[in-house]
Formats: sequence, C-alpha cells, structure tokens
Amino acid sequence: MSEIDPFENMLAQMDRAEPYADVGPGVFERLKHPERTLKVTLPIELDSGDTAVFEGYRCQFDSARGPYKGGVRYHPGVTMSEVEALAGWMTWKTALVDLPYGGAKGGVVCNPTELTDNDIENITRRYTEGIRRMIGPETDVPAPDMNTGPQTMAWMMDTYSMYKGYTVPGVVTGKPPEIGGTLGRVEATGRGVAIVTEQTFDYLGRRLDDASIAVQGFGNVGSHAARFLDDMGADVVAVSDVSGGVYDPDGLPVESLVSHVRDGNMLSDAAGESISNDELLRADVDVLIPAALENAVTEAVATDLRADVVVEAANGPLTPDADRILRERDVPVVPDILANAGGVIVSYLEWVQNTQEYAWTLEEVNSDLRERLTDTFDAVVSRHEEGVPDLRTAAYAIALERTATAHDFRGLFP
Ligand code: NAD
Repeated sequence: MSEIDPFENMLAQMDRAEPYADVGPGVFERLKHPERTLKVTLPIELDSGDTAVFEGYRCQFDSARGPYKGGVRYHPGVTMSEVEALAGWMTWKTALVDLPYGGAKGGVVCNPTELTDNDIENITRRYTEGIRRMIGPETDVPAPDMNTGPQTMAWMMDTYSMYKGYTVPGVVTGKPPEIGGTLGRVEATGRGVAIVTEQTFDYLGRRLDDASIAVQGFGNVGSHAARFLDDMGADVVAVSDVSGGVYDPDGLPVESLVSHVRDGNMLSDAAGESISNDELLRADVDVLIPAALENAVTEAVATDLRADVVVEAANGPLTPDADRILRERDVPVVPDILANAGGVIVSYLEWVQNTQEYAWTLEEVNSDLRERLTDTFDAVVSRHEEGVPDLRTAAYAIALERTATAHDFRGLFP
C-alpha cells in the first residue's frame, strides 16, 4: 500500500477543478462518494496443497452516464481505498472521452509471481463468482488492469456464462478475439498513450521524432507505448520494470526488449547499461511516461525531474505534492484520464461489437480510437486555453460537468 492514499489524491484533484466546473454543490458532494463497494473472501486450495484465503473488491463508483466500467487488478498492494480511487478515475475518464458508461474498478490482494497459472485461474473464477451479482453487460463490465489480461477475462467470461447457462461475451472486455474480443484491445492503451504524446508535441510546437523518452513500467501499457513511440521515430532511451531498467542515450532496441520480457525475463537482466527506477524518473529526457503504479513520482522526484513533459500512462502516478511542484515548475502533465483512455475507448468498441454480434476490422477500431482521443485532447486544450490553469484541471472540469449534467437530468431518487 502506498503511503499517500490514492482516494485522497483523487478527491484533491476534484477539489482543484471545482471552481472551474459548472457543477452545483449538492451534486459535487454526491460525486465524492462511491455508490457501493463489495468485499469478497476467496478461499482457494493452491497447487502447493495449502488453502489460502484472498480478499477481493469491486467498487461501482457512479452510473449516471451508463453501465459501470473498469478493470480488475491483481497486486499485493490492492486496498479498498485504492480500488475506490481507481473507480473514481474510471468515472472521470469515461465522462471525459464521452463514452456512455460510469466508472468501476476491481482488485484482488495477491502476488501473481508467487502463484501458479492454475492458482490464478481458481482465484479468478472464485472472484467472478463473488462479484457475479454485480456485473453483466448492462450493469458493470470488467476489463484487464495490472497483472490481468485476455486469459483472465476469458476465465471471468466463462465463469459468468456458466452461471447464466449461455455465453455472455459482453460481460467483460479485453477478451481474446477468438471468444468475442476485439482486434486492437491488447495494445490500445499504449497506442493511445503514443497518440496523446504526439498530440502534445504538436500542441507544444515540437517534433516527436527528435524526442527522447523514458518509460517506467514495461507491462501491457508501458511496452506498447514504447513500441508505438519508437515507430513514430522517437528515441526510447530508458525503460524499467519492477526489477530495474536499461538505458541507452542513442535509443534502445525496443522490439528486442519486448521479446526479452515476453520470454519471461526481467529488464534488470537485459543487455545494456543498467538504470534504477529512481534514476529513470529523474533522467534528462524530453518525455517521462510513468506506466506502473500510483505515487511513483514523489515530491522529491518532481523537484529533481528533468523531463520537459510528463504523460501519465499509469493511473495516479503523481502524488499531490509532485503535481503541485510540476505545476509551479511549468512542466506540462498530460493527465491519466486523458493519456491512458485508449484502453477504455477500445473496450467500449469491443462491447459495442458484442452487442451488435459483429466484428470490426483493426483499421476501423484504430481509426475510431484516434478520432475519439484527438477530439478529447482538443477539448481539454481548449478548456485550458479558456483560463483553466492546467491540463488535469481542464480535463476534470469537463468530466465533472458531464457527470453532473447526467445527475441533474436524472434527479435524486427517491
Ligand atoms: P502490467 O501488470 O501489464 O505491467 C505493470 C508493469 O509495471 C510491469 O512491467 C511491472 O514490472 C512494473 N512495475 C510494477 N511495480 C513497479 C515498481 N514499483 N517500479 C517500477 N515498475 C513497476 O500493468 P498494465 O496493465 O501495463 O498497467 C500499468 C498502469 O496502467 C496501471 O496504473 C494501470 O491502472 C494503468 N492502466 C492500464 C490499462 C490497461 O488497459 N491495461 C488501461 C488504463 C490504465
């Protein structure tokens, strides 16, 4: 668990946006509280022969704009407060990119590196059973997050479907395409991070093909972001995972590092000059992309940070103090609810395809993703230029107003 409570961080971000958002005080107060959070106990017989008891959560933060939507995280640091913060961030993200969804998040407190594939399948199926009364294509649609992926979603979909007695592809997104997933979902968040970085460079009047980039976290989001930015001509000079990282001022061989990690190796074992996570965050680069956990960029890191731009691929990677210091230092920060929204956009497209019982081409998916992200980026920049002091506050002002408008139309029940 991080020392800075992610939920308090999210509330501070909302408070900062309140003066710039046309939201009544009653609705604003309402938006600070999750609708509900379920805690489930998951007793599992492990392959080792031991019985272990895991804890899981599902938070449904707000549904005024549509069904709840949000990923499921497997990590030892998962807490109820973290899940509620992530569910809040999902609510603002889906509103900002104008998807007909609310926000949710789930998590299981476990360390996947200490578990077998069979243990993880059993945890997933038991967790799905635990939350199955909450989820469904019209109510709440889970997706992948840290340490979960297409296989996890396949097990969730199968478990839910077994209880229903028929196959329900739309209950989760991020499934393998063979069972109703969409083309382009696995890489969508990283692709979106690269698109938003490109937009930011256009906005700043700078050339991305001259830029040096450091990426912290080389999982689904970080590795795909690095690949797409490398394809766009930028120099990815530093990447790291939980074990440490590698650095090359002339640009790293991104594809071979992706293969190295895909083969089950850690980046600390990769060939080349080593760099610690701490050094990476302070590296002299044009763009820093934190793509791992919350609170990676602390007050001390923000003070020393040498990147010209920070693009938040992870959710909540800056502590509130770090955020303040970067604002004071005029370092542009592209907020998580914009920078990593590519994942939920393509999740939405997957859900639409499931509803239509029709599969789109990869080109259709990617062009829809680019258009939605570009429109959202432009809307955030316009709001910023109208006098909202920074990009995060501008993004929040838009998201809070859209969510509040839905609440105003729907009214208070009873
Ligand atoms: P992942 O599990 O695929 O990868 C996480 C990476 O972070 C791994 O390389 C891991 O080694 C590294 N890491 C973990 N702890 C670290 C530490 N203390 N220091 C440095 N590196 C560390 O997870 P992911 O799906 O890529 O998610 C990363 C972030 O992006 C999370 O904040 C997640 O909420 C966010 N996100 C993910 C998606 C998605 O579609 N997967 C969508 C939006 C946002």
